[in-house]
Order: sequence, then C-alpha cells, then structure tokens
Amino acid sequence: MIKLILVLLLGWVGISLFKKFINPNSSKYVKTEAGQKMLACSVCNTHVPESDAIIKNGKIFCSKEHSE
Ligand SMILES: [Zn+2]
Repeated sequence: MIKLILVLLLGWVGISLFKKFINPNSSKYVKTEAGQKMLACSVCNTHVPESDAIIKNGKIFCSKEHSE
C-alpha cells in the first residue's frame, strides 16, 4: 500500500514538474504568435500587444503619454 502511494506521489510530482516546464513557454508562444497582434506606436515606433495599445483617431500609441 505504501508503495502504491509513493508511486502515485512520484507520478504527480513528475507531472506537475513537466507541466511547469511546458506551460510557461507554450503560453508565451500562444500570446505572441497567435493570441495577440503586435502594433507599432506611431510616436516612438515601439511594438506593443494589441490589448495594451491605445488607439486614438485611427492611430496607434504605446502609452497614454504618446496618445496626447
Ligand atoms: Zn510610443
């Protein structure tokens, strides 16, 4: 019985470590590659994710300071 618990525990630790290794990289890939568009600021030309960009009068800005 103790052996079974040890095997399960080792399996769980192994799976969670494996997920930690896989997930951070894959989620970054999804965000930059497919999930979000990168837009260039029309003032400083910095590329920002679409969700962080400020769009005013059809122009794209990286921050509030540049949109004013
Ligand atoms: Zn800018």
